[in-house]
Amino acid sequence: MEKQPRNSMRLEFRSLPANVSFARTTVAIFASQMDFTVDQIDEIKVAVSEAVSNAVIHGKKDESSVVRLEAQLYDDALVITVSDDGPGIQDISWAMEPGSTTADRMGLGFVFIKEYMDELKIDSSPGAGTRVTMIKNLALRVEH
Ligand code: ATP
Ligand code: MG
Repeated sequence: MEKQPRNSMRLEFRSLPANVSFARTTVAIFASQMDFTVDQIDEIKVAVSEAVSNAVIHGKKDESSVVRLEAQLYDDALVITVSDDGPGIQDISWAMEPGSTTADRMGLGFVFIKEYMDELKIDSSPGAGTRVTMIKNLALRVEH
């Protein structure tokens, strides 16, 4: 049977740069219900910033464009998804390589997410939007 999350949230906001810090802070506060360290919360914040920035920068930019952010909290993991209805990614394995960019940027967003999260999954195809799923595991602390 599929495990049920202990808590979950879903947020939809306009695709604007101002909402990158809104998303990052919101997830950090949501994640603070779990036993993550300060460093782990910082890593989650970087990953959310990168994924939401990508949705805003590379996604659709008209007035009706929105970004969706979801988080599910399990006993041993936090699952975060960021999705947009933008043009999608042509070549996902290329996009995950360091320095890969179509926007004359650093091309390091996905590299940071991979480094800071335990799992990264990108679902995207041209014209069909992008959905980024990121998982941070919580090491269960042994009581002495
Ligand atoms: P940086 O994150 O360092 O500022 P970047 O955004 O170009 O630069 P990545 O975040 O690693 O680098 O993304 C790599 C490439 O994948 C992007 O240049 C873009 O072509 C594509 N991409 C990433 N996210 C999306 C998205 N949500 N929609 C469409 N394309 C995307
Ligand atoms: Mg990026």
